[in-house]
Amino acid sequence: MLRRSGCRSVVVDETSEKQLPALLEASEAPLLIVLPHRDSVEDLVSRWPLHRFLGGRDLVSHESWRSPDVRPDSIAYLLFTSGSTGIPKGVMVSHRNVQSYLDFITQRLCINQEDRFSQMFDMTFDLSVADMFVAWERGACICCPPENMLVNPGRFINDARLTIWFSVPSTAVFMKRLGALKPGTYPGLRVSMFCGEALPVDVAKAWIEAAPNSVVDNIYGPTELTIACTCYRWDSARSPLEAEHGVVPIGEPFPGMVPVVVDEALMEVLPGEDGELLMTGPQLSLGYWNDPTKTAASFVKLGDRSEIFYRTGDRVRRPVGEGPLLYRGRVDNQIKVLGHRVELGEVEAVVREESGVDAVVALGWPQAPAGAGGVEIFLQADDPVDPALRYRVAKRLPVYMAPRRYHCLTRFPVNANGKYDRRALIQLLEAM
Ligand code: AMP
Repeated sequence: MLRRSGCRSVVVDETSEKQLPALLEASEAPLLIVLPHRDSVEDLVSRWPLHRFLGGRDLVSHESWRSPDVRPDSIAYLLFTSGSTGIPKGVMVSHRNVQSYLDFITQRLCINQEDRFSQMFDMTFDLSVADMFVAWERGACICCPPENMLVNPGRFINDARLTIWFSVPSTAVFMKRLGALKPGTYPGLRVSMFCGEALPVDVAKAWIEAAPNSVVDNIYGPTELTIACTCYRWDSARSPLEAEHGVVPIGEPFPGMVPVVVDEALMEVLPGEDGELLMTGPQLSLGYWNDPTKTAASFVKLGDRSEIFYRTGDRVRRPVGEGPLLYRGRVDNQIKVLGHRVELGEVEAVVREESGVDAVVALGWPQAPAGAGGVEIFLQADDPVDPALRYRVAKRLPVYMAPRRYHCLTRFPVNANGKYDRRALIQLLEAM
């Protein structure tokens, strides 16, 4: 990501300094490294002559800082997401994109200075942008759980006196399993938001009981449409009737965002029919950094309409008559593991390279409404997997993408089109 982004400077804090040598070893271009916590950077200067280092004493006072000239279409951040060909894609998100999101959410949730936000996301996940900037835009407080609280998020809610909760549904699923969603446990919450994967109905119901003074919003959206772009507020009377397959609807688009549901030929489908969700509007990001081919494949024109739409790859349905958008799954091999977006193709590409085996299928397993528990690999091979392969693959992937188990089959089942039959492989996992 460092190389692909063309990054020129890096700010390193005390806890992440231990990662610095690995990062510098991998970097061929000179970097400016800023370490505000350090008085002296002499040892680094002599060890890494290619790079420039600045410590806290080298920095000027914040009073002499002038904000850079930022136009609405300037890139605010690049966020890398899993890429199906094995290379992560850097989504270019503009200031206009983020501001549109912030304007709507701060007003929808009436954020004020008394609010205290959770911060449950890694900074590599764009939902962290929401927490920070929604809170700071209105002078609210943001509370970061210490590492040991992550295993007991419920205690964190009350200890930190949170008023706003935002997490992936998997965290709530985990809390429910732990027995941490007992009725009335979190009276201080006034807003609970979930995003990143499908929200199971039974989890939404349990959450509302545990946080009786809170609304529950299911918000939906890919990084390419800036954090989230549709929302649905749970209503205890209406929602159980509107939900399908035990999953909470994704609701209505944010202001200015335009959804279209299309078939494989990109023709609009009728209400009541499943199709892929395409969207455009002020939150449509600028495409993928330095990758016109992937940008052109996902940011498309529709018929004679002038706008560019992003193809989400999400299967949705608009019910006949009035009703919220329903989430129906994916049209491709992208899955969610604990809210993280995983292209199974990316895992397959890494396993293929490391094993030298061409026939590789990655699957999300076990499967649950909110996403998969992890990734499992099938290899078409006669011999069992070399244990060193597991290590080499794990080293190249984030923890949540590293395959948990490898299965060797002499011959893969194929479907009518001669393709590897993923469904048959799932059945094999079910039978194990
Ligand atoms: P990311 O770019 O990592 O935010 O992942 C975006 C993808 O997560 C979407 O394309 C959906 O597949 C999934 N997703 C996000 N929010 C929801 C939601 N509320 N319900 C169902 N799926 C969701």
